[in-house]
Amino acid sequence: MNIILTGDRPTGKLHIGHYVGSLRERVNLQNKGDYQDMFIMIADSQALTDNSGNPQKVRDNVMEVMLDYLSVGLDPQKVTFFIQSGVSALPELTAYYMNLVTLPRVLRNPTVKSEVKLRGFDNDKGIPVGFANYPISQAADITAFKANIVPVGEDQLPMIEQAREIVRSFNSTYSEVLVEPKELLPENKNCYRLPGTDGQAKMSKSLGNCIYLSDDSETLKKKVMSMYTDKDHIKIEDPGKIEGNTVFTYLDAFCKDEHFQKYLNEYNNLDELKSHYQKGGLGDVKVKKFLLAILEEELEPIRQRRKYYEARIEEVYNYLKNGTNKANEYANKTLNEVKMAMGINYFNDDNFIKEQINKYN
Ligand code: ATP
Ligand code: MG
Repeated sequence: MNIILTGDRPTGKLHIGHYVGSLRERVNLQNKGDYQDMFIMIADSQALTDNSGNPQKVRDNVMEVMLDYLSVGLDPQKVTFFIQSGVSALPELTAYYMNLVTLPRVLRNPTVKSEVKLRGFDNDKGIPVGFANYPISQAADITAFKANIVPVGEDQLPMIEQAREIVRSFNSTYSEVLVEPKELLPENKNCYRLPGTDGQAKMSKSLGNCIYLSDDSETLKKKVMSMYTDKDHIKIEDPGKIEGNTVFTYLDAFCKDEHFQKYLNEYNNLDELKSHYQKGGLGDVKVKKFLLAILEEELEPIRQRRKYYEARIEEVYNYLKNGTNKANEYANKTLNEVKMAMGINYFNDDNFIKEQINKYN
């Protein structure tokens, strides 16, 4: 039976990139119900690896992320939410796994490399050790729950690959305790990495180019109407480019044929809209208004659920607290097995004392 684990850093509210890249996939999995457990982690310890100077930001966003989870329709009866720093087996597992990975291997991780640049660690103070180490701590997060499925966006693939390496190394060095995880990418390839509203490669909390799930209608409208399109498409009759045109990328991620009947019935599908745009004669404003209608339809129920839970914050807090208790039980069980396999579980291991008695008598 499947065990699913995934998580997000509490560095800001969640946005539509998270939604199409991972959250929507989690809700689908939840509704299919084909799993033993689904764990969703708020990765506060990981967020601190590159926000050590800003602990308030991390603290402030824990509840925001919880509210985002509940508002997209994740159900606390079916999902275990927990906070990373509340599960002490995780840093303990990390410490043991660190011995199985070399420093060059960690620094070669392509996601670490690109994030080192993004965060400016390469041109000022240097890379915090905790940050360089985060692929290993992520392996601990996954393996502590023996998760076999990890729903993620594309930027996380090198992390999952590294987690698999650690599992193989551990299992062959000690014994077959850990489970190799597999990533679950969105069905729709356009959702692997949603670009920002400014056309940058990735919508990211840290880049300020996001449409947040909690944005109200007015904010959404402003963001969509000022989105990056094709800089050479100036007059309506100019032929336009689809490639790299963020409005079309978002349509690829969100638009279904039925949206045309509802909001733009002079076209039957996205291909027709695209070819008209490429030929010329279709203005950006019209396409943006169509996208706005689709996003509004998708986000409105999410906003409503958010309001519901905002009025029940104590309940939400208790979901996280109870989930963290359950996560501790699971992770401690794995830690126990890991230490047993490593031969360092001295006080739960009857053989240890027997061996010592035999040796000294
Ligand atoms: P930060 O900038 O602090 O790293 P982030 O916006 O990258 O924040 P994370 O918490 O690092 O968000 O990522 C959570 C999950 O969402 C990961 O599985 C990641 O792959 C996915 N994800 C994040 N941004 C996008 C995006 N723009 N498109 C698709 N998936 C995304
Ligand atoms: Mg990230």
